Amino acid sequence: MAVTDKFYDVVIVGAGVGGGAMANRLANAGARVLVVERGNYLPREADNWSVKAVFHDKKYTTQELWRDKSGNAFNPSTFYFVGGNSKFFGAATVRFRKEDFEVLEHEAGVSPAWPISYEDFAPYYDEAERLMGTHGTAGEDPIEPPRSGPYPHPAIGHEPEIEAIAKKLRSKGVQPFSLPIAIDRHEGGKCIRCATCDGFACKLGAKNDAEVRLVGPALKTGLVDLVLDTKVLRFLTDTSGKKVTGIEVEQDDQKNTIHGDIFISAAGAINSAALLLRSANQKHPNGLGNNSSDQLGRNYMAHNNTAMMAIHPFRKNGVTFQKSLCINDFYLSNNVRPYPLGNVQGLGKLQGGMLSANVPFIPEWLMDHFAKRSVDWWIMSEDLPDPENRITLDSDGTIRVSYTSNNLKAHQELVKHWGKIMRSLGYPLILTQKMDITVSMHQCGTARFGTDPATSVLDQYSRVWDLDNLYVVDASFLPSSTGFNPSLTIVAQAVRVSEHLIANVLRSTTAA
Ligand SMILES: Cc1cc2nc3c(=O)[nH]c(=O)nc-3n(C[C@H](O)[C@H](O)[C@H](O)COP(=O)(O)OP(=O)(O)OC[C@H]3O[C@@H](n4cnc5c(N)ncnc54)[C@H](O)[C@@H]3O)c2cc1C
Ligand code: SF4
Repeated sequence: MAVTDKFYDVVIVGAGVGGGAMANRLANAGARVLVVERGNYLPREADNWSVKAVFHDKKYTTQELWRDKSGNAFNPSTFYFVGGNSKFFGAATVRFRKEDFEVLEHEAGVSPAWPISYEDFAPYYDEAERLMGTHGTAGEDPIEPPRSGPYPHPAIGHEPEIEAIAKKLRSKGVQPFSLPIAIDRHEGGKCIRCATCDGFACKLGAKNDAEVRLVGPALKTGLVDLVLDTKVLRFLTDTSGKKVTGIEVEQDDQKNTIHGDIFISAAGAINSAALLLRSANQKHPNGLGNNSSDQLGRNYMAHNNTAMMAIHPFRKNGVTFQKSLCINDFYLSNNVRPYPLGNVQGLGKLQGGMLSANVPFIPEWLMDHFAKRSVDWWIMSEDLPDPENRITLDSDGTIRVSYTSNNLKAHQELVKHWGKIMRSLGYPLILTQKMDITVSMHQCGTARFGTDPATSVLDQYSRVWDLDNLYVVDASFLPSSTGFNPSLTIVAQAVRVSEHLIANVLRSTTAA
């Protein structure tokens, strides 16, 4: 669709899980919505499941270059399509714990309290799980937060190799449980349970990503227009600087302006920060949302993530869909562990080519040999908000991600401890790889929400404190990264913000 001069109740930048969920809920309440997306639909094709296309040729990754804190250019693992990064996600749709909403003491410092309690947030998690079609088993996770009922779908189950590991773990006192997963794997569902899910897009449209579950159904209401291949350059404000009046967009090298009533930035945590910084004007010299707090772009977090291969030298691992098991035994402190370590979950089955793309000095045949005999894990620990970890724009407009990892001791302990457990289960060879700055998959925190305009960029309904009609609804709002995958929480906040807009903000003629 070409850029339009229609007037919309709500204009949303970005068609990822944040933008998609907003469009979905608002259109279902009768609002006229425009979604502006810089990418296009990701084609469903054989290459979706090709290790070479996805990991070596990086066929679907943006070509963009960002810079790190020293000014070195890097190519981020970010995807610009309808559905955003969720097109490639591992579909783990996990609630944060009750304790994540409270002050949590870590080895390296404090993870701050949220402006809302878990109890108040929980109903939005219910709706988010329904929207995403999550599979899971309630009551298995030893630190599961209270929930109102079962998951929308039963857990997808473990394949024999993983079931055997779960059994051995239980015999050692570890309490594994079914990782909540959003794929179309129930009776009549389209998922064939293949090995190329986590990190790949689904050729069958059976992964419950933002395109499939949120944007597609939103378009079916007839109230949502989607403009593709169109980059939003900046938000424009009125002369008072209190109200956004439009967005400046670029489509086919042409610049245009689109007008609306309410504006939502849902471009992802790094791009939303960059967009608000790029929208600086006389009234907002340091970017929109920075006047009161100077926190815009700061507190960038992305988790401490390590991929682990636990290798049995002789026995092949015949698993297909490996991402079904999760362990939270080390997530909170207790009387033997003075601080939280993090979460361990199954990783999509690694294949030799995926590894040699990142470790080119080890021959592919050797990595393939290991990958056929390994059980693979994703080990994830919280990184803490630090105002010096921040997104800024260089003078040539390039995004700079200044990031120094923190809370590493806890993460290293967890990696070491899990390696020890794997050895005790009969996997003597342990290979690990810590993710670096290019792996921005769990980016968050760059416009955190809060109760005090002096220390947060957004109010508790994700409205930019300094403006009447600008909201940020993507991973930017998270005040802490927690130790869990973020997408379900982004959807839950989008549902919450939508309900607030429908009840209190949208003109009464709009909301049904
Ligand atoms: C390989 C991989 C595996 C992952 N696995 C999991 C998992 O198992 N579980 C989980 O919870 N999370 C996972 N994640 C993370 C999850 O995908 C993200 O947290 C989530 O998708 C972020 O959603 P978002 O709405 O904040 O932003 P995004 O997904 O980044 O969406 C932003 C959208 O805005 C568009 N956009 C950006 N800038 C502009 C602009 N200027 N103008 C117009 N449009 C713009 C982008 O193209 C994109 O479509 C994974 C991510 C990756 C990459
Ligand atoms: S496991 Fe299912 S949802 Fe995932 S890529 Fe394969 S078919 Fe698609």
